Amino acid sequence: MPVINVVRQVLDSNDRIAGGNRALFDEKGIYVMNLMSSPGAGKTTLVEKTIDALKGRYRIAVIEGDIQSTHDAERVARHGVPVVQINTGGGCHIDANMVREALPGLPLDEVDVLINENVGNLVCPAEFTIGENDKVMILSTPEGADKPSKYPLMFHESSVMIINKIDLLPYVEFDIVKAKADALACNPELVIIEVSCRTGQGLDAWVEWLTTRVETFRKGRA
Ligand code: MG
Ligand code: ZN
Repeated sequence: MPVINVVRQVLDSNDRIAGGNRALFDEKGIYVMNLMSSPGAGKTTLVEKTIDALKGRYRIAVIEGDIQSTHDAERVARHGVPVVQINTGGGCHIDANMVREALPGLPLDEVDVLINENVGNLVCPAEFTIGENDKVMILSTPEGADKPSKYPLMFHESSVMIINKIDLLPYVEFDIVKAKADALACNPELVIIEVSCRTGQGLDAWVEWLTTRVETFRKGRA
């Protein structure tokens, strides 16, 4: 079964590099988030809101993963944090090696929280660990409630599901009860937070969850 062997080797090698990234992050005391969703679910907007909420408390840096362009990196840089853009040149996810290559572009000795915005895709970003503490995913209400049953790995791997664009609930076909139940069937531990990045609803709960995770990580190192 040579095909299966090749896939396994790719994932093994990615895990090895991710382990190296993780060791470096531990040494530097950096909490790392891998943020994933479909295109247009609101990743960059959530990154911007998160930076604004936590800027006085933590030193934040961002790695932006996109197939091409630097639009999102430019948006994030306006918030006054260091940011590196990874262009995957067609690749539909970022992997541990791309993150490792991007790290020299960041002042790691002056970073407490590193946010990685993955390429917009509900499939393979969940397969490639990058050395993160948490995978965080966004499902937005216009995408529909069928996503957990179609892309279970993403929901299984994530610590949190943010249901974004909750302000659009009256206007879209989104069965939130089904979305939550199907997501929890993929991952009973999944934390679910309803958010509207536009109105600000739920952002406090998100920031509180993230702060708790960062503090738990820092205490574990103390
Ligand atoms: Mg984006
Ligand atoms: Zn991919």
